Amino acid sequence: MSWTAIFAQRLHKQSVQKQPCNPVSTYYVSRVLRYYRTVASFYVQNFGCRATQADGAAIEEQLRESGLHRASAPGEAEIVVLNTCTVTAAADQDARAAIRRIAHENPGCQILVTGCYAQRAPEELAALPGVKWVVGNSHKHRLAEIAAPLVPRAPEETEIRFEGGAAVRNFVPLTRLSTSPHSLKAEAGSPTPAAGSRIFVSDIFAHTELLAAPVFDAGNERTRPNLKVQDGCDNRCSFCVIPYVRGQSRSLRPEEVIRQVNGLVEAGYREVVISGINLGRWGRDLADVSRPSSVVSAPGARVSVTEQGTPKTFVDLIRCLLQETALEKLRLSSVEPMDWSDELIRLVAESPRIAKHAHVPMQSGSDTVLRRMRRKYRPWHYQEKIEKIRTAMPNAAIGADVMVGFPGETEFEFEQTRRMVEELPFTYLHVFTYSSRPGTPATTMPNQVPVRTARERNRVLRELAAEKKLAFMRSFIGKTIQAITLSGFEGGYTEAITDNYLKLRIAEKHDANSWVETRVEQVAGGALVGSILHERGQGEENYFMEFHACT
Ligand code: SF4
Repeated sequence: MSWTAIFAQRLHKQSVQKQPCNPVSTYYVSRVLRYYRTVASFYVQNFGCRATQADGAAIEEQLRESGLHRASAPGEAEIVVLNTCTVTAAADQDARAAIRRIAHENPGCQILVTGCYAQRAPEELAALPGVKWVVGNSHKHRLAEIAAPLVPRAPEETEIRFEGGAAVRNFVPLTRLSTSPHSLKAEAGSPTPAAGSRIFVSDIFAHTELLAAPVFDAGNERTRPNLKVQDGCDNRCSFCVIPYVRGQSRSLRPEEVIRQVNGLVEAGYREVVISGINLGRWGRDLADVSRPSSVVSAPGARVSVTEQGTPKTFVDLIRCLLQETALEKLRLSSVEPMDWSDELIRLVAESPRIAKHAHVPMQSGSDTVLRRMRRKYRPWHYQEKIEKIRTAMPNAAIGADVMVGFPGETEFEFEQTRRMVEELPFTYLHVFTYSSRPGTPATTMPNQVPVRTARERNRVLRELAAEKKLAFMRSFIGKTIQAITLSGFEGGYTEAITDNYLKLRIAEKHDANSWVETRVEQVAGGALVGSILHERGQGEENYFMEFHACT
């Protein structure tokens, strides 16, 4: 029993002996306890993609709202939340290593594991040392209710009453939360959860909440917030575990997206990145009023989306953002190839307020591999989309995700991918090596590609991508390019990122978060090097040169 509990018991005994029902005594006990209690601290460590980072930001908001304060490192926190990714076996391994490290370095802390890995294999995580709670994506929006009751809260928010001799706090009891079995079947031989650990996971497809809070890039980069506006996926690519751990596609309502973006603009941000698991599907669920859905947006406001409303498409959402916010630059994260409609390409190309940047997942250039992957397009569809984007935006960044080593990928099929990468005007690539994920159809496909072969193919594509990127960067030498300054300053240069997603270094120290026109002088160390021609003031007139109708 802790010293505060012993102290409370003594005080309570005294108050009961003297005046059993005296409310003044109860009040006195409560005030004394408030004085001696400290505020519990937490630390959230995120792994994985932008969507997971956005979830982590919303979790931080939840915990802060519950009266906990953020520690500066996991070693200083009483509760450490690990917000995991499970997209590859390596991601799982990273999470397990982090849990072991934290349990070793901070044995007094309580570890809570959440995110995609927690949804996929909760028992596996609950068996690790120091893990107190495993909270799947299904219960992530209630994470603070799970973690907060067991720790003291901020003195001014703590309310302790005594009923029948027991202390009662103002928290939601754990018994109100469901702890039903998780959605992916436990693997045979799954580890047994450690005694005392609790698992909060249920069928993700029955859940329709969407956690949303702006997130900022790593490395203390505070100039380009990322706002998740969509979660989940209704596709079933045969290699991908995401739909099983994130559930059905669901969208942040347009009024909520606009509210969040306006808040960021008011706070002084000049570029916002909107993202999702399958961003181009934004709005499809809002048209289906029979599907109950809700949005949980930090700091805890819940917006019902079951009301009748005008169905919106992704293009409509972008038009609304241009119309209803004063955001200077909107950047789209990854959009699946078939969602790059002519309308979307035209809108991105014509608006100076949208960054000239298209990230279009490709995965493979082989028709037979794409079919085995259960992707919904053929190589010639993909090629046509990329060519349209390049024609509409000659200077745009065009990037892709490509996977090598998918089961059964032959030399011939890989060569088809390599050739497509060579021929298309990509400016960067994210090359992934296939990783078997339990429960996905690809895991049981024949002819798994040896690791060495897959690694070699990965190297070939990465080298090709590096050559293409360098050629693209060099094409800007002597030209003027737009960029936003970042907070990084190294070796006498301020870091910046261009409208078309290239790293730029500008001589001398400049304030972060400024839009600048720069003249590119050279390419060095993987970045453009340039000098400022003009710095654009916030809200400078000719910038808002267009007007879009909000449909
Ligand atoms: S589109 Fe395919 S790869 Fe992307 S999240 Fe959905 S299932 Fe996974």
